[in-house]
Amino acid sequence: MDIILVTPILAGILAGWLVNYLADVLPITRSFSRPTCRNCNNAHDWNEYLYLSRCQNCGQKRIPRTYIVLFVMLAATIYVWFTFSSLLNFFIGYILLIYLGVVLVIDLEYRIIMHPVSYVGAVIGLGIGIYTHGLRITLIGGAFGFGAMLILYYFGEAFSRYMSKRRGQLIDEVALGFGDVNLSGITGLLLGWDDIILGLLFAIFAGGIGSLLVIVVMLIRKRYKAFTPIPYAPFLIFSILLFLYR
Ligand SMILES: [Zn+2]
Repeated sequence: MDIILVTPILAGILAGWLVNYLADVLPITRSFSRPTCRNCNNAHDWNEYLYLSRCQNCGQKRIPRTYIVLFVMLAATIYVWFTFSSLLNFFIGYILLIYLGVVLVIDLEYRIIMHPVSYVGAVIGLGIGIYTHGLRITLIGGAFGFGAMLILYYFGEAFSRYMSKRRGQLIDEVALGFGDVNLSGITGLLLGWDDIILGLLFAIFAGGIGSLLVIVVMLIRKRYKAFTPIPYAPFLIFSILLFLYR
């Protein structure tokens, strides 16, 4: 194999490994700690963790997500390698890919976007935004992305409060998490003023269709629960991928 293929394959495996690692430790310890077994809480040996071996203490296998993430990040890295013309662009696209992978996996598993993760995203978004379309367009895009989702956030909160009063029961689920507002701001920095309106509309539209599908499935299974929050993060990420990785 030549260097043309070896580089993206190694980079892809590294990306998958990093996303798995960060998604394993950040939501639990909020630091770059040693990952622990999901079953017995025993700290993994680095070697055992690196080679995806079973837990030495209890024999627990690694969760299926580990392998899915590895495969998806490998495929995505190879795609970025062959799509982006320069090495610098590949590197930027690669870093963003790892970041989005971490946000997506943690959001799907814990339904949170942690604030420190959002700060890192703001720095990455600002850097990539300025590099691709200059400071002004980046900042306006970020402000719009943040502001538009903030309005939706307050609207959702007011709506749940109104409904709980009317029904006389407490609805503790907020329609939209504040992490989504932050991610929307990051999306704005990345897409810039040029694309943020279209990008947000796309994410909201896709989120609507996604929730409709979830409601249909819940109705079929006869387990419908009103006020199930819409997870916007996957759709915002989908929007970023669509606009930046063509
Ligand atoms: Zn174990």
